[in-house]
Amino acid sequence: MGKIKGCGNESCETHKKKITYKESEAFCSKCGSPLVYVCKDCYTQLPDNSEKYCVRCVANREDRRDKTKKIVAGVGSGAAAVFIAIFTRGKRH
Ligand SMILES: [Zn+2]
Ligand SMILES: [Zn+2]
Repeated sequence: MGKIKGCGNESCETHKKKITYKESEAFCSKCGSPLVYVCKDCYTQLPDNSEKYCVRCVANREDRRDKTKKIVAGVGSGAAAVFIAIFTRGKRH
């Protein structure tokens, strides 16, 4: 559910502009090529049975989640205050 398709023809305008189609569509309206499942983030062609995102984007998403957790933890330990102090000093120059 919620997967998207894109044109698999690399020379097609649709592919270049990373225009996406609904899963129910079967062919590109520009060039008539059969549509392929693509990653929602980077338009990489995906195999039929894969997730909405390619493995790289899935990894990126998990990375971001981890970093957010670390930043929140840092605020608790006062790291954010140190960062703000450095930033304010730098601005005076
Ligand atoms: Zn096309
Ligand atoms: Zn991707």
